[in-house]
Amino acid sequence: MPPLLRMSKSLNFKVEAQSGEARAGVLTTRRGQIETPVFMPVGTAGTVKGIRFEALESELDAQIILGNTYHLWLRPGIDVIRSAGGLHRFISWDRALLTDSGGFQVWSLGALRKISEEGTEFRSHVDGSLRFLSPEVSMEVQAALGSDIVMVFDECAPGEASHEETERSMNLTARWSKRSKEAFDRLQAEGADTGRLEAEGLSGTQALFGIIQGAGHLDLRRISLEQTVNIGFDGYAVGGLSVGEEKSVMFEVIEDIAPRMPKDAPRYLMGVGTPEDLVEAVARGVDMFDCVLPTRNGRTGQAFTSRGKLNIKNAQFIKDTRPLDESCTCSVCRRHSRAYLRHLYITGEMLASILLTHHNLAFFLDTMRGVRQSIRSGDFPKFQREFTERLDANGE
Ligand SMILES: [Zn+2]
Repeated sequence: MPPLLRMSKSLNFKVEAQSGEARAGVLTTRRGQIETPVFMPVGTAGTVKGIRFEALESELDAQIILGNTYHLWLRPGIDVIRSAGGLHRFISWDRALLTDSGGFQVWSLGALRKISEEGTEFRSHVDGSLRFLSPEVSMEVQAALGSDIVMVFDECAPGEASHEETERSMNLTARWSKRSKEAFDRLQAEGADTGRLEAEGLSGTQALFGIIQGAGHLDLRRISLEQTVNIGFDGYAVGGLSVGEEKSVMFEVIEDIAPRMPKDAPRYLMGVGTPEDLVEAVARGVDMFDCVLPTRNGRTGQAFTSRGKLNIKNAQFIKDTRPLDESCTCSVCRRHSRAYLRHLYITGEMLASILLTHHNLAFFLDTMRGVRQSIRSGDFPKFQREFTERLDANGE
């Protein structure tokens, strides 16, 4: 099969190998190349919690990280970030950055928000002030942040939403997506993007991804896909999954929608998931992922390993001299025992969170490295089978 090539003004995406629906490729942004499928560590407030940028770059080799528009907008605010020269300069990260639109964070505030056609009014979780987020405001904030990949401002229906409610929400997302694109184009033309960077063969501008909604209703998902593709974006995301629906529903949606998404654009599954979720979604055709699990769970004493999850608090590890994961080659597993990590955790040492976060991110990124290699070598089905068997065999 000839490689699929996409030349757009802001990024290139090339699928180089395929195994069933699983794809391995290269996404070229103005800040470098990203091998896909890729896991993107989440840097909520301009930091991937609990890990230094040096480790993200050198040992873990994360090629792209996320920033959260909602959090950065409220604190430190776009004036601070703009005066620093954009988010890359503010946090000192030269590799690619993707920012979400703030839509999901505002959505997760629940009762604190009020949605209208124009946008969403909500109370800041920081100081209780009344704020207003709309497609136009989100695009303006993301231009000030200067991220390399921008997400449209969408609305998310709850996992168990009725057909009627989901349809209303999905149509609102379509209208907001169109407004996002118009505002985005205007801001690019005005030079509002602080992250502009000349790169060979690329325009140097930000890229914009659309988001497909529709909860667990496949008919609506297909309509949302069509609405989004008709507007036209550099990449396409599946949103509104992993928000309380059954896992089987999530995979049903991915299996139906991913293969129908444009083949020459990156496909991004937002906010998912565990290592096994990532491998399952890759098998259904997804290229990009982000999730707070490796960092958040690292701070609460949970390690993801090739043999399942392990809770370092458990008494069984008091004298356990083995590493967290005997088949992991990360610097934490090469140096420290479960007994020591448990001791750090129990005594409330900050190093416990740091080391567990490091290992968890290493495990997620290594898993994706294995996924990419196996797709390229034609061994993905074997990789998937062995990965799942190992997880199932032991567990915690
Ligand atoms: Zn490790």
